Amino acid sequence: MAAKEVELGFAEEIGDDAVRKLQMTSAFFPSKIGGTPAWLNLLELPNSSCMVCKICLKPMAFLLQVYAPMPHDQSFHRTIFVFCCKDGNCHSKNYTDCFLVLRNQLKRDNKFYSYNPPPELDEINELSMEYVAEEFKPKTWISLCDVCGCKGDKKCSKCHVAQYCGREHQTVDWKSGHKNLCPKLCAQDSKEQLLQGNKCRNRRILFPEYELLIETEPVLTDENEKSEKDRLDEYKQFVRANELFTDTESDKELESLASLGKEALLADKQFRKFKKRITREPKQVLRYHQNGEPLWVSDEGKPSEDDIPRCDCGSERVFEFQIMPQLLNHLQVDSLEESVDWGTLVVYTCAQSCGDGSSYQTEFIWKQNFADTGIPTTALGTG
Ligand SMILES: [Zn+2]
Ligand SMILES: [Zn+2]
Ligand SMILES: [Zn+2]
Ligand SMILES: [Zn+2]
Repeated sequence: MAAKEVELGFAEEIGDDAVRKLQMTSAFFPSKIGGTPAWLNLLELPNSSCMVCKICLKPMAFLLQVYAPMPHDQSFHRTIFVFCCKDGNCHSKNYTDCFLVLRNQLKRDNKFYSYNPPPELDEINELSMEYVAEEFKPKTWISLCDVCGCKGDKKCSKCHVAQYCGREHQTVDWKSGHKNLCPKLCAQDSKEQLLQGNKCRNRRILFPEYELLIETEPVLTDENEKSEKDRLDEYKQFVRANELFTDTESDKELESLASLGKEALLADKQFRKFKKRITREPKQVLRYHQNGEPLWVSDEGKPSEDDIPRCDCGSERVFEFQIMPQLLNHLQVDSLEESVDWGTLVVYTCAQSCGDGSSYQTEFIWKQNFADTGIPTTALGTG
């Protein structure tokens, strides 16, 4: 996806369609949001101790992954994974400790996947779903946690079938169904099968799952310039900071915004630019532009060069993609009192895309709030 143009990501419902569900698994190299991660290297997964929030010490949740191969054989397959803590309290303390970005890449010729690409949707229908499901079903290289899909090297001490990344998810699973299932598993021979059918992906632990559909950002034409107001209206429905997106900015509105302490944000030139640019595609949840420039939400709170650490290999890190505030609307986090929140999350990755793929490499994320103008973020969330 390394391109000169900006690519946009959209959240697409997966529903109960078996083909689309299959396409969200590792052998199809998906870009996806929520659910469990579709790991690339299936053997050398990060240890569970790396996957915890550094503030509350609980396992982080999988937020999204972007499949973004590069034009070198070492990164023929390449995926960036983003995880974050689901506890809004942690985010208000120090965001860098409750996000994790991982990068992994593989050569075309590797031990996990076929040398040839997986079938596209129309080919799947031609080949028959049964054949494709069998041929491309997720292969087990190591145990994964039944709850979160990360490395799960601990087992339930009673049934020895259920697998977890640690105590936290074992407890969650016990309370949400394993308590009843465990004795049945102990009494059965075909344990694995029974467990497969009863795996409960805990809604409190995982974010809702979507396909991340990638499309090129449309160029601005007279026609979509004209419909800017409509698009802005549409955008308003998709962002929680609703009242910031009033288009007319009449005296009366400015007054009411001033009373809310938001005049600083309205005066922010960059925020106006941000607003204008996203009206081209109001539903975008991600912007991808490797080695390009992020679209900042504000003039405030941008990183200086020193703020972005070099990769362990010594190379600089460059912008790769940013996660937009619209994604929050798909994550069902609004109802929490002190919720997870951001203006934009900007991901920087090693310019050399170093490594031979035998491990998951940590990359860097920068959070910019709408509220870096001094306005508390929570004041924007009430709509
Ligand atoms: Zn936390
Ligand atoms: Zn887990
Ligand atoms: Zn058990
Ligand atoms: Zn590097």
